[in-house]
Amino acid sequence: MLPLPPPPEPTSEPTGVRPRSSPSTAARPRDESMADSFPDAWFQFLKSNVFHYQLLNDAERTRLENDARIVVAEKTWEGCGGLTVTDEMKVTIAGQACLMLLGREHNYFRRISTILIYPSAFRTIDEGWQYEGWGPMALEGQAVYHGPVILAWDAVLAEGRDPSSGKNLVIHEFAHQLDFIDGYADGTLDLAGEEAERWQEVLNAEYHRLRREIRQGHDTFLGDYAATSKTEFFATASERFFTQPAKLRHLHASLYDMLLRVYAVSPCEWFAARP
Ligand SMILES: [Zn+2]
Repeated sequence: MLPLPPPPEPTSEPTGVRPRSSPSTAARPRDESMADSFPDAWFQFLKSNVFHYQLLNDAERTRLENDARIVVAEKTWEGCGGLTVTDEMKVTIAGQACLMLLGREHNYFRRISTILIYPSAFRTIDEGWQYEGWGPMALEGQAVYHGPVILAWDAVLAEGRDPSSGKNLVIHEFAHQLDFIDGYADGTLDLAGEEAERWQEVLNAEYHRLRREIRQGHDTFLGDYAATSKTEFFATASERFFTQPAKLRHLHASLYDMLLRVYAVSPCEWFAARP
């Protein structure tokens, strides 16, 4: 769904890499913006286009609304391929992305300054890049290291409204950006100590298990694309965690448990309490 250009070698000066809990100089204007009311139309966008919104409790909804408002306000949004960006697009994308922040200390995806939106699938902006043996291709999304997130609006809308496919383009691409926080695009996350070690154990075991099952010709829940690299594995596993959590827990219990700690929310409980 979304090949990723190989990132440049991480430099010894990790610009853009900041602790997720670092204080922000923008705290004051943010606090003031939080006092603004959430426009009625924006509630409708969340209700219509972010399936999970109906599953959240009141506190989670309030946090999602506040986080989404800040992401909408602080990112640069650009339409591509003739598309004019609307509030609905911004709120829908921000609402889906901020599901990933509900349980985390975070800085509003600080690494991402720009979000580019195409009406539908687009050709990669980096024509020089392609996987070995792959020609130029249409993409639905791309997360560029030290660059923008690029999304196809039709896929954002369809997958945001209906999680039953197990796919979510926004979660996939923003998961890459969480992966990039530590300066590497390899599935390692900004975890510390034993949690980081445990994540590496689970990531390695599950990634190689998937590759082995694919080599043996099995159909897999995570799919072939997740086996192309560890960053794609993490991004795809994040999609499944938020869209088909019970199935992920059933088939990949260790992976589910680790993602539960990474995201600190419980999608299984959300879906179990579904009205
Ligand atoms: Zn990807």
